[in-house]
Amino acid sequence: MTQPARVAVIGAGPGGYTAAFLAADLGLTVTLIDEAPDPGGVCLYRGCMPSKALLHVAKVLTEARESAEWGVTFAEPDIDLERLQSWKNTVVSTLTGGLGQLTRQRKIDYLEGRASLVDWHTAAVTMKDGTTRQVSFDHGILATGSRPARPAALASEHNRILDSTAALDVNRVPGRLLVVGGGYIGLELGSVYAALGTAVTVVEMTSTLLPGVDADLVRVLSRRFGAVAETVYLDTAVTQLTADDEGVSVRLEGPQVAREDQRFDEVLVAVGRVPNSEIAGLDGTSVEVDPRGFVRVDAQRRTAEPSLFAIGDLAGEPMLAHKAFHEARVAVETIAGHKVAFEPTVIPAVVFTDPEIAWCGLTEAQAKAEGTAVSIARFPWGASGRAVTLSRTDGMTKLVVEPETERVLGVGIVGTGAGELIAEGVVAIEMGATVEDLRACIHPHPTLSETLLESAESFLGLSTHVYKPKRLSSP
Ligand code: NAD
Repeated sequence: MTQPARVAVIGAGPGGYTAAFLAADLGLTVTLIDEAPDPGGVCLYRGCMPSKALLHVAKVLTEARESAEWGVTFAEPDIDLERLQSWKNTVVSTLTGGLGQLTRQRKIDYLEGRASLVDWHTAAVTMKDGTTRQVSFDHGILATGSRPARPAALASEHNRILDSTAALDVNRVPGRLLVVGGGYIGLELGSVYAALGTAVTVVEMTSTLLPGVDADLVRVLSRRFGAVAETVYLDTAVTQLTADDEGVSVRLEGPQVAREDQRFDEVLVAVGRVPNSEIAGLDGTSVEVDPRGFVRVDAQRRTAEPSLFAIGDLAGEPMLAHKAFHEARVAVETIAGHKVAFEPTVIPAVVFTDPEIAWCGLTEAQAKAEGTAVSIARFPWGASGRAVTLSRTDGMTKLVVEPETERVLGVGIVGTGAGELIAEGVVAIEMGATVEDLRACIHPHPTLSETLLESAESFLGLSTHVYKPKRLSSP
């Protein structure tokens, strides 16, 4: 049976479902294909959402433990893992179920199955019930996402070696957990397990946690993470990994490693993700895949095969859901005949650790690497009234500024709620704001958002709450 469809979307994660919904809203006939019963993809089923639910619990546990400082003491928390799991699963089912409902309301044909490409205008879908359906389309949008990378040295099918998906199933609290990779996932899930009572060791092969992120921001996180983790080894490699029924034997090699051979109850491998570009039949089209596995696309997210578009993790770094949302809109509007392009000035990034780290635009490290002259303004949260009331002065807001024009080129924030605050930086940079523009906007008091205003004032040597005897310039 051949179904006529204007747009077929393969993969129903944040990129795929956004594309399908917008295409339907623009009056196109849409088929959305995914193996899951409802849209959601990795982000909703086994990524952003369940991890944020667990991080919220971690935050509550930490606050309860630290509240003695404010004169409030709680009993040691009793953690019911079954209820925790079930609450996390409810978060996932609420969100994915909601997307299922929105799919039906929009009259999108949702096919629960695995798609392959027959040619550049036809997909074959092996449905969950084993039958096959053919979908013909004018335009196909590939949104198949990514999966955890497993380098050969760390490859093992043993259930004590976890990837991020397995680690989100918190049905036990391991005594000792080794996290391989000090990036987004390693630090987020490492924080969750540490809060639940696990002794967490992180092994990072580079010289810093979160390589690429500005060192002054990472320092603030490292201080706190170093206190909750058992050990953090930098410049260290895992050279051997053997799992048995009782645990995992690991050999570590690095300058800080005093004991090379160690035992852990479980190991979480979080060393990056790889795009899912092995779509059956893709090699029969003109679509080009680069050596890292990303599908090559133009500014409209069109591949080398004119009828096929690619968005999200499949279409390149950064592998972030909000980039996929935006690319989806560009691809669909292009299909609908609008003149659009994917050319954001900035794509924000947030690591949901405690404290959170968020940044957008040019970083100080990038400027240095490129040889771009920039001025930096920093506002320490110790001078923020709101941070003091929250007992969370472990934070900093910084601006990366173009010296001649005083335009804001980058914003970096470390501190509680940094992920929410960074949105102001995105708007400021996209609107071409100068430091003076930021300073001229009245920010609500008392809030952490004032740290953006005060970092602008600090740039001018005029911060109300930081005394600098020498002013850099007059107003
Ligand atoms: P990552 O790239 O953030 O971090 C991987 C880390 O592992 C790096 O620091 C790298 O130097 C290190 N590493 C690599 N090989 C290693 C080895 N053999 N031994 C020790 N360390 C090693 O990758 P991730 O944490 O797996 O996350 C994957 C991607 O998923 C992220 O890049 C991001 O795009 C996305 N993600 C985003 C969020 C968020 O937005 N908050 C959360 C989770 C994941």
